[in-house]
Amino acid sequence: MQIKSAEFVVSNSDVSKCPKDYLPEYAFIGRSNVGKSSLINMLTNRRNLAKTSGKPGKTQLINHFIINKNWYLVDLPGYGYAKVSKSAKKTFQKFITAYFSERKQLVSAFVLVDIRHEPQNIDLEFMQWLGENMIPFSIIFTKADKLKPKAIESHIIAYKNVLLETWEELPNYFITSSSKGVGKDDLLRFIDETNKN
Ligand code: GDP
Repeated sequence: MQIKSAEFVVSNSDVSKCPKDYLPEYAFIGRSNVGKSSLINMLTNRRNLAKTSGKPGKTQLINHFIINKNWYLVDLPGYGYAKVSKSAKKTFQKFITAYFSERKQLVSAFVLVDIRHEPQNIDLEFMQWLGENMIPFSIIFTKADKLKPKAIESHIIAYKNVLLETWEELPNYFITSSSKGVGKDDLLRFIDETNKN
């Protein structure tokens, strides 16, 4: 798939105000600073569609972008930023739960994890929750340019081993680097193949 158009549609914290036209959607989520905005910008060939920020945890909204007038790319807030207050975390949990429970047009979520880090509980728990709620998701490993190929391989194996402690089947995964353009074609192909619109 080639991305010919990518336009911002709406930002909100209320799922009932998300677009109602029932186009297929793909949602991107992960810890703050994982590289989500950079990845969205890489995928859409825009420098600033999603705002890359030096201030993790700042964007606490559901952001809809329409791609090729055919599907929605949804930028969800980053989670797990220590400096966000407890009440902000609760609000976050509420509307993320509402988003995933109510958006029946969601084709797949993408959970982003930094390839350099050991598997983190917050990501594993979130994946567990998605699994229990039968929400399809893939993992996107980010910042692959920061590791040598051998290290990438061993980090992926370590991640798989942790996942296999609770999962019978491993989720689909992608290895990406926004700074080097790695993984873009694979991700767009996956979206193209799963988008039945
Ligand atoms: P977000 O908070 O998840 O949206 O993360 P950002 O996209 O704002 O990126 C957080 C930081 O990681 C920024 O300093 C980016 O320049 C950096 N970053 C993001 N993606 C990559 C990548 O693929 N490679 C490298 N080396 N740095 C990245």
